[in-house]
Amino acid sequence: MKKMQYERPVIQRLNTGIMNKFGTRTEYAPVTHIEGNAVKELIEKYGSPLFVISEKTIRNTYREANRSFNTRYPKVQFAWSYKTNYLSAVCNVFHQEGSWAEVVSGFEYEKAIRHGVPGNKIIFNGPDKTEAELRTAIENGSPIHIDHLDELYLIKELSGEMKKRPKVAIRVNMDTGIYPMWDRFGFNYENGQAWDAINKIMLSNTIDLIGLHCHIGTFMLAPSAYAVAASKLCDLAMGIKKKFNKNIHYLDLGGGFASKNTLKGSYLQGVDASPGFDQFAEAISTAILNAGFVEDELPLLLLETGRAMIDEAGYLLGTVISNKRLSDGRRATIMDFGVNILFTSFWYDHKISPAQEFSQYTEDAVLYGPLCMNIDVVREHVTLPPLKRDDQVVVHTVGAYNMTQWMQFIALRPAIVLIDCDDKVHQIRKRETVESIVKEEMMPDYLKSFKL
Ligand SMILES: *Cc1c(COP(=O)(O)O)cnc(C)c1O
Repeated sequence: MKKMQYERPVIQRLNTGIMNKFGTRTEYAPVTHIEGNAVKELIEKYGSPLFVISEKTIRNTYREANRSFNTRYPKVQFAWSYKTNYLSAVCNVFHQEGSWAEVVSGFEYEKAIRHGVPGNKIIFNGPDKTEAELRTAIENGSPIHIDHLDELYLIKELSGEMKKRPKVAIRVNMDTGIYPMWDRFGFNYENGQAWDAINKIMLSNTIDLIGLHCHIGTFMLAPSAYAVAASKLCDLAMGIKKKFNKNIHYLDLGGGFASKNTLKGSYLQGVDASPGFDQFAEAISTAILNAGFVEDELPLLLLETGRAMIDEAGYLLGTVISNKRLSDGRRATIMDFGVNILFTSFWYDHKISPAQEFSQYTEDAVLYGPLCMNIDVVREHVTLPPLKRDDQVVVHTVGAYNMTQWMQFIALRPAIVLIDCDDKVHQIRKRETVESIVKEEMMPDYLKSFKL
């Protein structure tokens, strides 16, 4: 038998954008339906653009995250990060799943109360809490996460005046090996500020220190950073046990897990680059379990996961306004949605699918929004089949932050629908009208009339 000849394997780098063995296509099939509902019909009924949220995806993601942590650590509690998406219907899906509320302003606090979340299950974060808001939070027994010393002193004053023991945690910032460090919030671990604040609270005798909190960044791709953060919080908790013989009730590791979006400039797609909940859970739970707590004094692990919990559940449907050629010959497609409602296109390359059948032919294009602003770019480069006026698209992974950071600039904000677990559509926010904007305005008498 003739010996087969050895051929060494060749590893070839594939580049997106230029020709590779898959051709230049990034889209292979149109997305004509979302969970059984035709994109065309949704747009006909609710207008374009339109945000669509999948309840099924939210619940599945929540359960996956919960399972990842619960299989590794005995006491876990999630708190929904309101600022990530505080539509009431969305919050209530999380609350039905068992999630507490995590708020960063008085406005969000009030929203959580209106949703019916018990005060002691609303975590009050953020640097700006007014005296009135702090009073309400103290009255309701909400955990207040202290950001700075001025807040600590005010809470101390209020505790004396109200004859109530406020329940507090401190926010701790620290070096986790990820730079730039988020050191503008809370008290620093390395330089001793955090320990100082702890001593001030413990010796005040009128405030209950029930937890330690950190939120080390957002869209974090390194689970190891959470291991460092958890160890440092544990170290503080052990210090408190040693000096004051007091058990800290919870450690709150904040949010920040990366979603499956693709960061601009990332070589890999987000689906491949972002660690899963299992990896974050492994890093955090191992660090706490190894910290030396005796079994029945293990702290509750709180998590304020935002974007990783909801990004995939959100879609934006939109329509093509026009096509044109730029002076350099590139194709430009103008959409009816821009950075006004898709704020996250500043840092993500959102996946965009045509919503109708298309041919083999594709072309690199720039996708612009409808605003009269040069920065209104949805995608600088995207390889899509040519889209013509009135064609529709589906933008993926838009559930986090867009519906809270959107701005009312020269246009009205779109409607939002929720598709429930039986694929039924419910409208959860109305499309804005001129009326909804001008009703907040007031006209001084002398400006009421004019002659032209
Ligand atoms: C924004 C925020 C979160 C949620 O962050 P994600 O990166 O979306 O997970 C959690 N906790 C605090 C204090 C926050 O400010």
